[in-house]
Amino acid sequence: MNATDSFLAAAPATAAEAPLVALHDVHLSFGANPVLKGIDFEVQRGQAVSIIGPSGSGKSTILRCITGLLRPQHGEIRVGETRVDALRTEAELIALRKRVGFVFQQYNLFPHLTVLENLVIAPTRVAGRDRATAERDARALLDKVRLSHKEAAYPGELSGGQQQRVAIARALAMRPELMLFDEVTSALDPETVGEVLTVIRDLVRDGLTCVLVTHEMRFAEEISDQVYFTEAGVIVEHGPAARIFGAPESERTRAFLHRAL
Ligand code: ADP
Ligand code: MG
Repeated sequence: MNATDSFLAAAPATAAEAPLVALHDVHLSFGANPVLKGIDFEVQRGQAVSIIGPSGSGKSTILRCITGLLRPQHGEIRVGETRVDALRTEAELIALRKRVGFVFQQYNLFPHLTVLENLVIAPTRVAGRDRATAERDARALLDKVRLSHKEAAYPGELSGGQQQRVAIARALAMRPELMLFDEVTSALDPETVGEVLTVIRDLVRDGLTCVLVTHEMRFAEEISDQVYFTEAGVIVEHGPAARIFGAPESERTRAFLHRAL
């Protein structure tokens, strides 16, 4: 065996990359009410993962655990190398939240700031970027969410769908490694849902790592690499979108999809 052969033999055939997000056996109760009962959940870099399931099943709680907003009583949560469940100081939590963008049903833009200023404020004040860089990033993001023509508008002058697209751009302005979307179209008028889903679809196609909680089943089926079905604080099943939607293993999943689709 020559030197090249021994080098090749030593290399692992396919080194599985560590997931960007990993929850292991996460348990969380609110008082006496157990809400997460042993959650195992993973997201690989560049993947889009959807969490679907009935209302109250723990979907938002999972997302809040990933951002460090909630601390489980038991289990491990990792984002990259960071053990989120072990973070103690406010500085550590702020550092994590710079890496994880979170968009909710309620867009909560700053009403007294223009669209452009909504995107510039956190990068300059929290991330310490210079104003020219922050403005250049903001304009590129407004182009991505198709709102360049609205940079001087105030949030109150925009439709719900436009405000939600600004909220997505504002989260992206921090250059997160990971984006979490929690029912971002649930509060919108039906005619503006599509424009928000289009923006998310573009981000997924660009390879941004995303976790989506959504009731838009067709959209979840279309864009997700993996789908997790939750019920009453447990993951009932998970797998590739085509399998979960096309051939669910669990009767519970089947019944839910039957109602939801
Ligand atoms: P989903 O997002 O799937 O609708 P949630 O994760 O929001 O579900 O909630 C799961 C359960 O936890 C629900 O029963 C809800 O009432 C309860 N819950 C959520 N947040 C709190 C809280 N801050 N305090 C007490 N109970 C909560
Ligand atoms: Mg929720």
